[in-house]
Amino acid sequence: MFDKVFIEKKSYQKDNTKSILNKVKYNSLIEIDDISKHWGTYKKPYLHKRTNLNLYIGEKKGTLVKEAPPAYGHGTEKHYYFIHAYNCIYECQYCYLQGHFNSPDIVLFINHEDIVKEMEELCGLEENMDAWFHAGEFSDSLALSHITNELEIYFDFFKRYPQTKLELRTKSSNILPLLKLEPLKNVFVSFTLSSHEAGKAFDYRCPSVRSRLTSIKKLVEHGFNIGIHFDPIIYHPNFEQDYEKLLTELASILPSEQLGYISIGVVRFTKDVYKEVENNYPDSPITKQDYIKSFDNKVRYNLAMRMWILNTVKNICIKNEYEESKIYLCMEDQ
Ligand code: SF4
Repeated sequence: MFDKVFIEKKSYQKDNTKSILNKVKYNSLIEIDDISKHWGTYKKPYLHKRTNLNLYIGEKKGTLVKEAPPAYGHGTEKHYYFIHAYNCIYECQYCYLQGHFNSPDIVLFINHEDIVKEMEELCGLEENMDAWFHAGEFSDSLALSHITNELEIYFDFFKRYPQTKLELRTKSSNILPLLKLEPLKNVFVSFTLSSHEAGKAFDYRCPSVRSRLTSIKKLVEHGFNIGIHFDPIIYHPNFEQDYEKLLTELASILPSEQLGYISIGVVRFTKDVYKEVENNYPDSPITKQDYIKSFDNKVRYNLAMRMWILNTVKNICIKNEYEESKIYLCMEDQ
């Protein structure tokens, strides 16, 4: 799977590292001092991830848990995300990581206990008593979880802090590690879904939308709570019918009681990411649409178009008996 594996000297003998190395294939192993002196220090083209992907293992330094931007999550509680990995084995055409980092190489941070400690400190503040913590901001939170083995550590923490909430963001159907754990009311496994057609067109090397739906069904049957992200929605003439079909399927496997929230968002890019998408996928329908520079300088559809798409999908959700109060518009200027 990987060409080279780079390991920080300090992490070499750690059990987590040994366990990861036992589960991945690689051509060579290289010891380094500090990931930040190697990973992303020169521009490695995003699409090299198809043929030459390296892995870095070490400890995350600096701030491990960060406050999320406005309109990031559901409700009025505080939202934080924690960083336990960079980059992803999947390849969605619209992925913002392609312009965000200098390198598509995967980084796995093994100091989960430090992340938990930082979350614990934040939970000591009154304003964070019912805060949300999100995993998967810079990676997919389940895709490699059978290799990284961290889920148990986070479940232990959230069992001790039942008022706080964890969101595991994913497009993966790698749910076996989760199924070994006892579901917790305050842990939400949240799947990004698009219409089957959009999934086939834009989500390369990802589990299909069908397979994600099957994973949702299994998790629901095991008692897990689920979040849904219809994001990013990319306009095409049949999008309404396609989302009608998807919602009908979803409603038949995900009862409202086990749904935490639905977020809905339309495709959007920073200028740098948009340039990368144009460069990496010049023939993609994504780059053939009408966008404007919007309120936060991101490239988006114009406001009327965004509101029409968002409200269309929101109404389809409501028609399928999902409560309006559980639906929010992601990263929109409300
Ligand atoms: S699953 Fe998410 S992180 Fe991975 S390539 Fe797709 S958009 Fe990017």
